[in-house]
Amino acid sequence: MTDFTATRALFHLPDGICYLDGNSLGPLPKAAEARMREAITSEWGEMLITAWNRAGWMDLPRKVGDRVGRLIGAAPGTVVMGDTLSIKVFQALSAALQLVPDRKVVLSDSGNFPTDLYMAQGLIGALGQGYELRVVAPDEVEAALTDEVAVMMLTQVDYRTGRMHDMAHLTRAAQAKGIAVVWDLAHSAGAVPVDMAGSNAEFAVGCTYKYLNGGPGAPAFIYARPDISERVAPILSGWLGHEAPFAFDPDYRPGMGIDRMRVGTPPVLQLAALDAALDAWDGVDMADLRTRSVALCERFIAGVEASCPDLTLVSPRDAAQRGSQVSFAFENGYAAMQALIADGVIGDFRAPDVMRFGFTPLYTSDADVDHAVEVLARILRDRLWDKPEYHQRAAVT
Ligand SMILES: *Cc1c(COP(=O)(O)O)cnc(C)c1O
Repeated sequence: MTDFTATRALFHLPDGICYLDGNSLGPLPKAAEARMREAITSEWGEMLITAWNRAGWMDLPRKVGDRVGRLIGAAPGTVVMGDTLSIKVFQALSAALQLVPDRKVVLSDSGNFPTDLYMAQGLIGALGQGYELRVVAPDEVEAALTDEVAVMMLTQVDYRTGRMHDMAHLTRAAQAKGIAVVWDLAHSAGAVPVDMAGSNAEFAVGCTYKYLNGGPGAPAFIYARPDISERVAPILSGWLGHEAPFAFDPDYRPGMGIDRMRVGTPPVLQLAALDAALDAWDGVDMADLRTRSVALCERFIAGVEASCPDLTLVSPRDAAQRGSQVSFAFENGYAAMQALIADGVIGDFRAPDVMRFGFTPLYTSDADVDHAVEVLARILRDRLWDKPEYHQRAAVT
């Protein structure tokens, strides 16, 4: 069994804070601080430009990609790091469209994170040629897999409700209709077991600052099924995705395998932090993680439903259909979340009325869950949220 008391000790968790927002920004892994300091002082400071070779900076996107790959069931050499998730969505979608050149529809669902839809809109606008983004309700995706659809682009776990698509099933259903598949694993990587290779999906993308604890601005990842990475021409044909970047050839030639999904200079300091953050996962069995995650979520749901009658569960009640977060609707959810945060329990809020709580076994304990329930119940019972300062919306919710 994975020792989750030991993994908790690897994180800096501020005194007096109960952190239930690791689904949005993971906390600081203690090792990241030391690793970044080393990258700054010994590598950047002492080695200067020679660190690209001597400290292995240039290989970090692949090396760290393999470590992320292990957590999503991807074979070594099929995942590479870089850029932000929005960019990786754009790359994966454009590549997937090339696999099905005779069709024009990109299918997604209304639970998808807006940037994924925005990037699709931008790409389609640039492509012209009659492309269309078709957005249906999450439970209507399967019925919408028609032979007009070129690509099914979905986020597995809904950022608002935690509702989880059945990745293997939908991938099979899509591919049976000749549709290429892109999965966004933003709320899956490090949250639930993922079997990328077994799913047979063509592409996957995700970020690393949520459940993987890589820190604000940590680079995203992209996976391509090994048999197709060289069948697609990168739309963002940057020099580090070139076959021979240091030949400085004026003409682009795509690199080998997943390397062609690199774009420009890697974010070395962020990769150093992420590399250290991934150490926390070394002894973690993803099945154990899932068992703990479900137990934490169930404990929270039971506690809140027993003591907070004003809140309505908007996450699936069936754990098998839920990722590693729990959301409740409450009409004064924004103010209630501000009151909770003021009392040291950090979750977040998503418009219009969703209070969202992430459960992350690496550092969240049963005691955290019980404490959060107790504070939430008191805030609601005594209407402690009803103060002018808690109604004042901040830029980031
Ligand atoms: C968090 C998240 C993003 C964020 O994209 P960035 O480019 O990293 O800001 C995109 N898509 C999904 C599904 C997300 O959950």
